[in-house]
Amino acid sequence: MRPIDYTVAQDVKGALQKLSARPADSVPIGGGTNLVDLMKLYVQNPATLVDINGLPLAEIQEEGGGLRIGALVRNSDLANHPLVRERYPVLSEALLAGASPQLRNMATVGGNIMQRTRCAYFRDISQPCNKREPGSGCGAIGGYTRMHAVLGVSDKCIAVNPSDMNVALAALDATVHISGPKGERKVPFVEFHLVPGSHPEKETVLQPGELITHVTLPASRFAARSHYLKVRDRASYAFALTSAAVALELDGHTIKDARVALGGVATKPWRSHEAEKALIGQPADEVRFKAAAAAAMKGAKPQGENTFKVELARRTLVRALSMAAGLA
Ligand code: SF4
Repeated sequence: MRPIDYTVAQDVKGALQKLSARPADSVPIGGGTNLVDLMKLYVQNPATLVDINGLPLAEIQEEGGGLRIGALVRNSDLANHPLVRERYPVLSEALLAGASPQLRNMATVGGNIMQRTRCAYFRDISQPCNKREPGSGCGAIGGYTRMHAVLGVSDKCIAVNPSDMNVALAALDATVHISGPKGERKVPFVEFHLVPGSHPEKETVLQPGELITHVTLPASRFAARSHYLKVRDRASYAFALTSAAVALELDGHTIKDARVALGGVATKPWRSHEAEKALIGQPADEVRFKAAAAAAMKGAKPQGENTFKVELARRTLVRALSMAAGLA
């Protein structure tokens, strides 16, 4: 049994002070749906929990033609918000594809952004894991890899980022807003998560003592044609084998603009500019969708049981694009 300090913050300034007191050992807790799981498994062992549920970060507001989404907005509230359903349906679909209703009622946007991998070796402290314990090795490489990544992998880690919401936020050009001891800063969502490289323990650009306060979305140009498609082992409450968040802007039959992000196959929410390049200026048809899917998966490095993901991801993307274009 380890003692854990628990403290409640009343505002952002107070939360930052509490986090900064012991930055390496303190973590904020919102819904706790991921963090408490990992604490029970002794995978994550913070000395101090800073409860941020009282902070004024649970609003969804229109801002600059887009949306400002507080870090404490619950996943179910975001998924069902009228402006999200109307202007960013791909985000609503991604959220509703994740977890269970009970978990979505508790889980927050900030927590979902920081959601950690479901790699079974990471979650079992008897196994080697470079992410949990740098330098200890990787149980997955050479082990059972069916749920692991094929994009963004390194020889140190092949763990998948498990979030559905993150895939949609990557496609929608979201921005993450952060407060910390040195002030406020913002990071494009696609740059917030890191590929593992030589340091799988570094998962995001968030520094110790910093706090995600909100996320912003630019004005929506893709409300009419977007889709989140998730392929999984059972119809609900399962993590993605593959997923795709896509958005298209059409001029007649021609693709004027496109957004493509993939989930279930990569070590971070995977925006595919290669697929977008293969689509923009081209006719919206299956030939182009297949070309985009091939471009998206070109650098894939499967190993062992996850080889099937390469073809499944291609098919997932073609299907998602067909549905967004109204062809499927
Ligand atoms: Fe750990 Fe990454 Fe290897 Fe999983 S894939 S055991 S998270 S280092």
